[in-house]
Amino acid sequence: MSVFDKVIAARLARGIVTQPIEYEKRGAELKDLIAAKFSRSFFIREVDTGSCGACESEIIAATNPLYDLQRYGVSFVASPRHADALLVTGPVSKNMVLALKKTYDAMPEPKLVISAGDCALNGGVFKGSYYIAGGVNAVLPVTLHIPGCPPTPLTLVKALISFLR
Ligand code: SF4
Repeated sequence: MSVFDKVIAARLARGIVTQPIEYEKRGAELKDLIAAKFSRSFFIREVDTGSCGACESEIIAATNPLYDLQRYGVSFVASPRHADALLVTGPVSKNMVLALKKTYDAMPEPKLVISAGDCALNGGVFKGSYYIAGGVNAVLPVTLHIPGCPPTPLTLVKALISFLR
């Protein structure tokens, strides 16, 4: 029995089933796509422009030992100069517009902008607030939007797969 099969068998025995198993399968798919299109490594710089914090919690969860997104070739980096993609969460509050633009400008070409969460699409529950510039596409050219409030690690992986196919 392979290590993967042992992990799945242990999870089934404990009653932990659907999402981790689907996540493992999708993750393997994502790993192949990243290997083919990004020489095995896809680097993301994340910026929160006014989120409630739950979108970040899910993104952080994606890097925990259960989901371990890094094993599929996705890494989060501190500097925009090292990033292939900019991942933005939350509505864009007016006081974050300049910081967001500066982060984008610091990235090397070619660069992708990914927005995550319903707030990042159009302001979400904060839409219409006096201090919101709008969704991310009001400030930067968004390449991929990942819906959800908040999007889960599995949603994140599925969206990346659809985009990279
Ligand atoms: S999309 Fe939902 S979880 Fe994400 S920042 Fe907005 S309210 Fe919070």
